[in-house]
Amino acid sequence: MSSPKGGSIPPPFNLQAKTGNNRLLGPYRRSFQWLISLLILLLPWAHVDSVSLLRVDFTTLSLHLFGATLRIEELYLLLLFSLALALFFLLTTLIFGRVWCGWACPQTTLSDLAEWAARKLKLKVSGFRLAGAVWRKALLHIFFLMVGLLVASNLLWYFIEPERFFRQLFHGQLHPVALGTLIVITATVYFDLAFLRRIICRDFCPYGRFQTVLVDTSTLVLHLPATEAPRCIKCGACVRACPMEIDIRRGYQIECINCGRCLDACRRVMNKRKEPGLIGYYFGINGEGPRAIFNPRTLLLASGFMALSILLVCAIKLRPEATLKVALSHQVASRRLKDGDQVSFFNAWINNRTTTKAEYHLSAEDQGNGQKLVLKGPTHGIIVDGGQNQKVDFVLLTPFTGEESRVSFRLIAKDGSKLAETDALITPRQSR
Ligand code: SF4
Ligand code: SF4
Repeated sequence: MSSPKGGSIPPPFNLQAKTGNNRLLGPYRRSFQWLISLLILLLPWAHVDSVSLLRVDFTTLSLHLFGATLRIEELYLLLLFSLALALFFLLTTLIFGRVWCGWACPQTTLSDLAEWAARKLKLKVSGFRLAGAVWRKALLHIFFLMVGLLVASNLLWYFIEPERFFRQLFHGQLHPVALGTLIVITATVYFDLAFLRRIICRDFCPYGRFQTVLVDTSTLVLHLPATEAPRCIKCGACVRACPMEIDIRRGYQIECINCGRCLDACRRVMNKRKEPGLIGYYFGINGEGPRAIFNPRTLLLASGFMALSILLVCAIKLRPEATLKVALSHQVASRRLKDGDQVSFFNAWINNRTTTKAEYHLSAEDQGNGQKLVLKGPTHGIIVDGGQNQKVDFVLLTPFTGEESRVSFRLIAKDGSKLAETDALITPRQSR
C-alpha cells in the first residue's frame, strides 16, 4: 500500500481482518461508555474505612481522595493531583486524539442516550435534529428532565453523601445552595439534551478547540487511506452514521470525535461484499504506524506525568498521620498562682489525617531545661475520628522564673510514639 505522500500506509490500529469478516467496534464503545457512566454514578457510594472514596466535604473543608483525606491546608497536594491529571489528559489526547470525546465523555454518552431514547419512541434522528409526533416528543422531554435530575443529583453526591442527600431531600431539609444547584444543573442538562447535544461538541467544547494544538502526525485518527478509496462504492453509509455530520472520505476533520461509527458502517457494507472495511484507526497517517507515538512530545509529557504521579504518591504517603497546632487563648489571660506557678490557657487543634478513629494525648516540656510540665484539662484519651479536626482547651502550669521560656508541645499516639510537635513562647506574668 502507498500513502497519499507516496510512503507505505501503516497497518490500521483496529480489529480489522484481512478478509471481509470485519469486527464491529460499536459494542466495545457502548460497553466502555456503560463502564464509565456506572463508575461516575457509583463512585460517591463507595467507601474506605467508612470514609467516601471521592468527596469534597465542606463541613470539614477536606477532600476525601481514594483513601486519603486532604485538608484545606494541604491543597498543594490537590494542585499536584490536578497537574498530574492535566498532563495525563494532554498525553492521552496527543496519542489517542479525541477518543475521549467519542468513547468516554459524559456529554457524548448523554447525546447517545438522548438519540437512543428518541429512536425507541419512534422519532426520526437526523443529524442534530429529532422529528416526529408531538406526544412522542413530549415523552422524550420528560425523559430528558429525569436524566437531568439524575445527573444533577449525581454531581451533588460528590459533595453530600448520597444517603444524607436523599434523607435531606425527602424531608425538605436540603440546604438552599444545594437545592439551587440541583435545580440549575437539572435545567442545564435538560436544555443540553433537548436542544444542544452534539452542537456542544462541535461548536462549544473547549477541549475540541484545544485539541487542534495537540494533534500531530503521530496521533490516532480515523482515516480512509487514498489507496482504499478506489474500493469505495459511494453508498454514503459512513456519512449517514456520523453523529457529527462529517464526511470522513474528505479526510480528517477537527469535529471528528473518533467514535468509529463510520468505520462500523463501512464494515457492515463491506461484510456483505466479503471485503475488508475501508476506514480504520491509524497512528500517523503518513506511514509511521504505532512507533510514531515514540516522539519527543509524547516522551516529554509521559515523563512529566510519571514524575508528578510519583511525587504525589510520595507526598501523600510521607505526610504525618496527625498534626498539632497550639495557640495561647485570647479569651483567658495568663496569671500567677499564689504558690508562684504561672498558669497559661491554651487552645490546641488536632487533625487526624488517617481514615480511622485514633486516640492521642498531649505532653509539654520546657525547651530550656528539658523539664516535663504539667497540663490540666482533657489532654489524655483524646479521641478524634478519621479525617476530623478537634479543638482541645487546656491549661499549662510553669514555674515562675520571671523570664521568657519556650515550651514544646507534643502529640503522642496511644502506643507512645510522637506524631507531631510544636512550640509556644511563655512570657512571665506579674499579676496574680
Ligand atoms: S467521522 Fe466517523 S469517527 Fe468521526 S465523528 Fe463521524 S462517525 Fe465518528
Ligand atoms: S461506507 Fe465505505 S463504501 Fe460506503 S461510502 Fe463510506 S467509505 Fe465508501
